[in-house]
Amino acid sequence: MGGGSRPGAGGSRGSSRTRRNHRRTVRVRRGHRPERTCVICRTRRPKTALIRLALDSGGLVTVDPGQRAPGRGAYTCPSCLPELRFDRRIQRAFRQRAQGFHSSLDALLRGDANDSIATRA
Ligand SMILES: [Zn+2]
Repeated sequence: MGGGSRPGAGGSRGSSRTRRNHRRTVRVRRGHRPERTCVICRTRRPKTALIRLALDSGGLVTVDPGQRAPGRGAYTCPSCLPELRFDRRIQRAFRQRAQGFHSSLDALLRGDANDSIATRA
């Protein structure tokens, strides 16, 4: 007679399993269109519809027309570009690494924008 000797089901030796709340980040891939958020208006748009800003070697913010410059980038809509100012949003976008606007970007902004951009953040 085989006396069913079942292994103790509750044999819990102090298993030190750290149970983590494994939060899965579900990436919804819809047609492979990378989206970015405009630093000015916070609208999400396809990356290609935005202007990419990048830092040059001196830490100055420049426009990155090819969207290929290395490092962290920030994005803005073409329509928002004239409103771009060197403020906290830019600082945050570049993780406090931005030193200022590159002269070419400065010129671009000045050429387009009028002097009435005096709104403070
Ligand atoms: Zn925008």
